[in-house]
Amino acid sequence: MKFRTNQSVSLLLLFILGAGGCAVTDRQIIDQADQAHSGLKPAVINDRELSDYIQSVGDRIVEAAKEADRNKVGPPSHFKDPDRDWMFSKKMQFHFVNSKTLNAFTTGGEHMYIYTALFQLCQDENDLAAVMSHEYAHVYSRHVQKGTQRQYAIIGSALAVGAAGALAGGKEHATEYGSAAGGAAMAAGQLVGTTFTRGDEAQADEYGFYFYTHAGWDPQLFGHFFQLMIDKGYDKGVAYLSDHPTLASRVEAAKKRARELGPEADRWRRPPVASASRFRELQSRAAQLSKTLPDDASLAKTQQLLAAIPRSCLTPAIQADQLEAQKRLQRDMEEQEKR
Ligand SMILES: [Zn+2]
Repeated sequence: MKFRTNQSVSLLLLFILGAGGCAVTDRQIIDQADQAHSGLKPAVINDRELSDYIQSVGDRIVEAAKEADRNKVGPPSHFKDPDRDWMFSKKMQFHFVNSKTLNAFTTGGEHMYIYTALFQLCQDENDLAAVMSHEYAHVYSRHVQKGTQRQYAIIGSALAVGAAGALAGGKEHATEYGSAAGGAAMAAGQLVGTTFTRGDEAQADEYGFYFYTHAGWDPQLFGHFFQLMIDKGYDKGVAYLSDHPTLASRVEAAKKRARELGPEADRWRRPPVASASRFRELQSRAAQLSKTLPDDASLAKTQQLLAAIPRSCLTPAIQADQLEAQKRLQRDMEEQEKR
């Protein structure tokens, strides 16, 4: 069925707020991610060159993750379920989305989104690959599944009824139940914020580093993108005020990991998918295409959504524009419910 944009928005809100079912399965997260994708699609850059490129970088990360799985490298949450093949399937899709917000995220299923603003800030492929490896580690470690379960426990029974309905009702009814549940969650008003814990982020850095280095990128540059963000003034959150490690501490941790690598790491090195000059060409191409994308109402909605999504992977504290976008979404939701 075809979702109206506002219905997709409701479903995605449901995702942002992490309201799932009691025993959250991979299948539920994958379906939820697919439904969220219908709300994000208008912002996806549909360009063969750029799509092929980001998919190639992603595929290389997935290959390295498969190797980690074979070598029994990963957190308990990765190995708890014997059915892990979906994580390494060709269905895992990597998208560039057109947005001025600096962000990257995964919905935990078979989709990952890299915002064009983040792509433009990258110095070369090492930066992009480091961010994507970190995001993929959230998938590998089932952090969205864990977070959804955690939030479910917080929200309590009122919302659980709606959320369970969304899951039990199947796709045909998911939107109406999802909308009700999303509204209830909004009323609770306490859940807007980060999706992953500090421990999740540290884990994503740890296993992301493994994927990134084993896939052939430069171990010295894993933390470079965070350094770029520090240089831009994004490390403003005070560590003790935040649930998340500072960017500076993550840069340090990355340097330490690189120092501790054995001589075998030299054998992992491979040329990047795109050389430095090719990478700059792709960045220009994305910049050009961003300008030509239509700016209709549905895209505006999607942009608002992209801005509202937590940026816990990158910035330690909630950002002002994110808060503003979340408030606007909440107003939209309330209006939608009155209708
Ligand atoms: Zn993260």
